[in-house]
Amino acid sequence: MSAETKTTCPYCGVGCGVIASIDDHGKVSVKGDPDHPSNYGRLCSKGSALAETIDLDGRLLYPEVGGERASWDDALDLVANHFSETVAAHGPDSVAFYVSGQLLTEDYYLANKLMKGFIGSANIDTNSRLCMSSSVAGHRRAFGSDTVPGTYEDIELADLVILTGSNLAWCHPVLYQRLAAAKAERPGMKVVVIDPRRTVTSDIADLHLAIRPDGDVALFTGLLARLAQSSAIDQNFIATHTEGFSDVFAEASALSFSDLLDKTGLPAMQLREFFRLFETTEKVVTCYSQGVNQSSSGTDKVNAILNCHLATGRIGRPGMGPFSLTGQPNAMGGREVGGLANMLAAHMAIENADDRDRVQRFWKSPVIAERPGLKAVDMFRAVADGRVKALWIMATNPVVSMPDADTVEAAIKACPFVVVSDVLRQTDTTRHADVLLPSIGWAEKDGTVTNSERRISRQRSFLPSPGEAKPDWWQMAEVGRRMGFTEAFSFRSPAGIFAEHAALSSFENNGSRDFDIGACAQIAAEDYETLSPFQWPQAAGAAAQTTRFFAKGGFFHADGKARFVAVKMPVSDRTSAEFPFTLNTGRIRDQWHTMTRTGKSARLSSHIAEPFAEIHPRDAIEIGVSDASLIKIESPQGKVIVRALVTERQARGSLFVPMHWNDSFAAKARIDTVVAPVTDPFSGQPASKNVAVAARPFKAS
Ligand code: SF4
Repeated sequence: MSAETKTTCPYCGVGCGVIASIDDHGKVSVKGDPDHPSNYGRLCSKGSALAETIDLDGRLLYPEVGGERASWDDALDLVANHFSETVAAHGPDSVAFYVSGQLLTEDYYLANKLMKGFIGSANIDTNSRLCMSSSVAGHRRAFGSDTVPGTYEDIELADLVILTGSNLAWCHPVLYQRLAAAKAERPGMKVVVIDPRRTVTSDIADLHLAIRPDGDVALFTGLLARLAQSSAIDQNFIATHTEGFSDVFAEASALSFSDLLDKTGLPAMQLREFFRLFETTEKVVTCYSQGVNQSSSGTDKVNAILNCHLATGRIGRPGMGPFSLTGQPNAMGGREVGGLANMLAAHMAIENADDRDRVQRFWKSPVIAERPGLKAVDMFRAVADGRVKALWIMATNPVVSMPDADTVEAAIKACPFVVVSDVLRQTDTTRHADVLLPSIGWAEKDGTVTNSERRISRQRSFLPSPGEAKPDWWQMAEVGRRMGFTEAFSFRSPAGIFAEHAALSSFENNGSRDFDIGACAQIAAEDYETLSPFQWPQAAGAAAQTTRFFAKGGFFHADGKARFVAVKMPVSDRTSAEFPFTLNTGRIRDQWHTMTRTGKSARLSSHIAEPFAEIHPRDAIEIGVSDASLIKIESPQGKVIVRALVTERQARGSLFVPMHWNDSFAAKARIDTVVAPVTDPFSGQPASKNVAVAARPFKAS
């Protein structure tokens, strides 16, 4: 007889339901939850291997101060006192939190509340900045709010699915399985994949557009110009529900076809076929992910896509709409609580005085941050130049994952006071901590996460907390209380935090805000325990939850209309004689982020055992590397040495290197040491898909 617990996978933004079982001998096994609407029982390789990653090997089990075991009381007092003293001496902006899309919503909520409402700074940013912040900025420009209108069912109902900047098969595998199953059932369904690489995902494509890096703005601008002169244009929707079409159309029309060919690098026939498919298919879903977001023109790419859906009125109806796919399990939940430096809470705007006043009254907080804080790249710059003097890093490994990673590592090392909350004792980041706080891991955690389609699901614990490990929310509540904010941080359970978060989402909401889960505002502990997955919005007292946005307008700009947004053509070629290759970084199928968990599974590691650089055969011949030989990749920021994987899937002049490997698994393979800290001007999201590098054979001296 085994005990079963329904929980949620902690990896990608699909947010699959998982049933974890423990048999009489204490052995844990997992299977997909057949009742969960995200996966209906499916799991991918990573989800299926969850039980292989939850052992205690390498776990951080006790607080440490200066490398020595400490009591929780001593460690928490030190953190609280140090943050309080730093704020008193240097002001609230001298401290910062760098958090993570791995945190549960309840953890994230408290981190945001403590920093923005009680410390009084907005210096809280997240590794989700690296994941989907360009989509947030694009949504806010077009819709007046960060609203994702799509659902997974839309992908199955569409007649045309466009995947741009998304290797869905490896990065959102269960969603890919749903798409593949739908396509098998309905042979008329078409899939277009837009990606400079020919990935596994392109194997399902009826049309693969091997676009130039950052050619997406031109592609969707050219599409808009074409649509505007076709019967696909929805004049009624444009007139009733949008603003700014004529100006944006005039600019789009100025892009000549020869410019379009040049900027996208695509053959004319393929371009025409793509335009024809979009023009003649009403049910179109355009999914986009890191290939769109992780760009110096990421926000403009998002808006170029949204412009096309607004122009055709193909939004918010079954089987149609733009759909940003989040990378992390709780990137969306982080957005809901305002866990980004430029957001407030419950999708309210930090720049808006009424929103600030509303949140401050709700929190009964002594202060409220009045302006956006430091976004990830700027935050570590501020650590480097001494503006930030105390830093708390939670559930993330920036020494591996931030661009210009060596500089980030040096900054953390030099920072006067660094706290790291993590499940592992030794990561590339924890080794620089003054205070290490042991966090509970996936199997031990209780709380909620929100997936890409706005579905909130419970994560439930099924194993006891090991050693003295504690929840992240508990750590923040303790520090908040010790900083003197006793009442505001008196939480005793995640249920209480979730109820406050839900209450804030509907507090004085007159319909002008999208995020509203007020129905959960009075949730009792037992109901929280049994909470079934649901999509927001879910207003208090609503007879049925609303799952669709924008089919009939109802955008969140003050006039209720969406905005067409003018976009700029980016500089897409960053190469030079010295750095002639374009580097693209990304995920592989069986690893997650910096491998601190998936790296424990021999099964997962056997898929691809070591870091590699994909390179086109002719480029390999030109620079003198052969398959499986070592290749050195260099930029002004740093260098890595990995094995060459010679493949025609890679376009000429480009390289692909996975972002996972860290120093614990392979020396000199942290690819983010090579990535320049170039960011999108609107979102601050780093551009990790278009980095100019040199590549040559590595010869050991
Ligand atoms: Fe987990 Fe994503 Fe795989 Fe689902 S698709 S099992 S959420 S990694």
